[in-house]
Amino acid sequence: MKTPTLVHAGTRQEPWVVVRSGFWGFQSFGFFDGEEALVVDPGIFAEDMALLETAVCTRATTGGPRRVRHVVVTHAHHDHLRGWNSYPGAEVSLPRTAAEKSPAARERILAAKAAIDTRLEIDDPEFAYPVADRVFESECALTVGHQEVVLIPLPGHSNCCSVVWFPSISTLYSADYLVTPGLPYCRWEIGAFRQALDWLGAFCRRERVQRVWPSHYVGHTSPLAIQTAIAKDRTYLEVLEQACQTGLRRELKDAAVVEAAERAVLALGGHHDRAGRLQHHDNAKRMLACLKP
Ligand SMILES: [Zn+2]
Repeated sequence: MKTPTLVHAGTRQEPWVVVRSGFWGFQSFGFFDGEEALVVDPGIFAEDMALLETAVCTRATTGGPRRVRHVVVTHAHHDHLRGWNSYPGAEVSLPRTAAEKSPAARERILAAKAAIDTRLEIDDPEFAYPVADRVFESECALTVGHQEVVLIPLPGHSNCCSVVWFPSISTLYSADYLVTPGLPYCRWEIGAFRQALDWLGAFCRRERVQRVWPSHYVGHTSPLAIQTAIAKDRTYLEVLEQACQTGLRRELKDAAVVEAAERAVLALGGHHDRAGRLQHHDNAKRMLACLKP
């Protein structure tokens, strides 16, 4: 389980690295130019973080050894922030909403991490909540070698989520948006999640994005695949909304509305397992909350 996969190794022409963890198909991203590298959401196990560093620092080098100059944490969920301090000397960037979580929220996040650590036999008792060198609340450009990398807040999945745009390679790291196989994963407000999907659709068209790497499972490696993934999530939310509206019109109790909405999205196919059902249930509850007066 601890053995990560190097999904994309990085070459001179394609200077990015994707490492997939043995847990949750978690996918970290690395980018390099010249003697500098940047990593995003660097993994679950120490082995993931080490493989990411080795790849990003040694692939297609031209001069001396490369070093990780930047660590970007897209949002404050426990699977994304683990490796924030694994690269000594690197600057750590976080969305302001993630960097400034309340003490109670931090405690919840650290407790969730500790629970997964126990399950995965990860020994990390000294772990501390990330300390940011840079916080951003609007688009923020960094330089890696001679290339620009843009950090873009995109709330919806959570209130603190962001994505990372690499213009020189036409690639977007989408964090927990467009996870495939998967279903829309809204841990905040459905309205904001829908706006995020709209933003992703427009941005990917305008910038002619060629590939999108979500934080779990597979990447979308063509403009058509990207728009298909966005359309699938939009359809899911429309079906969820219609089912909730129907239930509300019939004046059903909340629990019955949620159950009917869950059934409607289950009928779209897939994700009948426990985790999928929990997610459908949670999405249905969030949709109902945003429709009720
Ligand atoms: Zn997340």
